[in-house]
Amino acid sequence: MNEEKRKSEAESRLRQYLSERHLRCTPERLAILGVVMDARGPFTPADLLTELSGRDFRLSQATVYNTLKLLEAASVVRHRPSSGGVETYECASRVYEHLTLVCSRCGRTRELRDAELTKLIKLRRYPSFVMSGFDLYIHGLCSRCRGVGRARRTAKEK
Ligand SMILES: [Zn+2]
Repeated sequence: MNEEKRKSEAESRLRQYLSERHLRCTPERLAILGVVMDARGPFTPADLLTELSGRDFRLSQATVYNTLKLLEAASVVRHRPSSGGVETYECASRVYEHLTLVCSRCGRTRELRDAELTKLIKLRRYPSFVMSGFDLYIHGLCSRCRGVGRARRTAKEK
């Protein structure tokens, strides 16, 4: 799907969603949609606020949050597991190849690049199924939760 088509489809999906609920399609909502559609990877509401600051209108954090909820309900964006309690989203119409480390204790996440594993996954074939992307979570404990830093410090002090 080309970029223009991807964007126009998302906009018509949002417009339809809003009109069905008698909500207005405000310039603020369209501006947020524009930034979301241009995002190459996952983003947080704070990222959007930064990106949109300095435009003709002032956006509050609440507007960004509420618009993201609308975009999620209209299937334009989807939620990603939060990283340390920060809400993270991604554009639903992009093809993603995600490898993410998730700490089972504190919930912190870290995106991982692993060319070898990515290549292996992309080579997989499944009967009656064509893969368009993947989202792989690897669970475990981060260094902070394993107390690695503290152990190292203690060793140095000795
Ligand atoms: Zn942790």
